[in-house]
Amino acid sequence: MKNRITESDVAALQALCAGKSATEVLAWAESFFGEGLTFASSLGQEDQVLATLISESSTPCSILTLDTGRLFPESYTLLAETEKRLGLRFDLYFPNQSAVESMVAEEGINLFYDSIAKRKRCCQVRKLEPLGRALAGKTAWICGLRRDQAVTRGDMQVVEWDSLHKMVKINPLIDWSLDEVVTFLSDKKVPYNPLHDQGFVSIGCASCTRAIKPGQHLRDGRWWWESAEHKECGLHSRPVTK
Ligand code: SF4
Repeated sequence: MKNRITESDVAALQALCAGKSATEVLAWAESFFGEGLTFASSLGQEDQVLATLISESSTPCSILTLDTGRLFPESYTLLAETEKRLGLRFDLYFPNQSAVESMVAEEGINLFYDSIAKRKRCCQVRKLEPLGRALAGKTAWICGLRRDQAVTRGDMQVVEWDSLHKMVKINPLIDWSLDEVVTFLSDKKVPYNPLHDQGFVSIGCASCTRAIKPGQHLRDGRWWWESAEHKECGLHSRPVTK
């Protein structure tokens, strides 16, 4: 493992990455962090761009994804197609079996519709705990976040300090528009989730994702029964300092 850095180093790394393209940021991160770097993909369009760039890298970092057990069938098909098309193998992380069984026994299978607290418990069990295991021993992780995806992401930077996981978080596509993402996938003939063509923009668990209509915000299809400021599952929640 290469460099282990602290929160106080982040400003210097931000300056280092200023003006770099996504490919350049990835190349720098793979060299700087070595095996301490991993990419967390949720199989979204942005993640498909990053998986493609990583597959083209001479020193590709590992790629992980979380199987919450509540994903769309289309997402599993996409995972298999992506591995084949890009010649990759994703590391899959599943929720703790006994934690899921206890939660469902206590609150029911669709507890997330009942309250924000119960929705957060489900995200904790099905996403956050597995992600914590996936990131154990790592020093930096790559995400496909873009600034215009959510009101909670407007001031995110290409390099941030993830105070939850105590490591660096790198967002190579932070300045990309959705059009740029879609054009990249089309030009490179990279598979994407067919649900995107049915009005689904941000795709997560099937029970918590729906299509949006023209004019609605990209995140209106996720946890639509909650207000915008609550719409993070915790994977990318602040406090994350720049
Ligand atoms: Fe549970 Fe919904 Fe969160 Fe998926 S998105 S982990 S189903 S609350």
